[in-house]
Amino acid sequence: MTKIRLATVWLGGCSGCHMSFLDLDEWLFDLASQVDLVYSPLANIKTYPEGVDVALVEGAIANQDHLNMIYQVRDRTKFIISFGDCAITGNVTAMRNVLGASESADSVLNRAYLDVDVQPQIPQGELVPALLNQVMPVHQVVPVDCYLPGCPPNADRIRAVLEPLLQGKQPHLTGPELIRFG
Ligand code: SF4
Repeated sequence: MTKIRLATVWLGGCSGCHMSFLDLDEWLFDLASQVDLVYSPLANIKTYPEGVDVALVEGAIANQDHLNMIYQVRDRTKFIISFGDCAITGNVTAMRNVLGASESADSVLNRAYLDVDVQPQIPQGELVPALLNQVMPVHQVVPVDCYLPGCPPNADRIRAVLEPLLQGKQPHLTGPELIRFG
């Protein structure tokens, strides 16, 4: 049997969606027997590979690294799942958008690191990716194939999306238990 090549991606999110993925508990053993996990922060794999079948993408697009990453993920992945409310709407990650930085992220950086910090200093350097002026949900940047809401989506919802995919079917979430935000 050919195994599905599964990836999980962590962009602008708190990792709570990935923690919820671990709540799949013993079903993770079933999943592990049916997929190859080819990229994930859980597996410490550094390079996003070619030929990924399914990717769970947690988090919004908040900085230049996220932007580069999501283009690469879209280019190399057949089926992208917007994983959690931050990926779908921006949610918590996009709360900084109310500061109104339409032309520059300086107002956000000033507020976070200069106005309210006891040791004011804006982090800089090659390893610090540039903030985008506005946080965007994933589908605003690249096409998304499926939306998995929740903050975080609970394990039942995650399984409800992954199980049909393992059987070669399209997931179809319906009803408040599966599609409610928050
Ligand atoms: S949707 Fe909720 S749990 Fe998931 S990354 Fe965003 S804030 Fe964290």
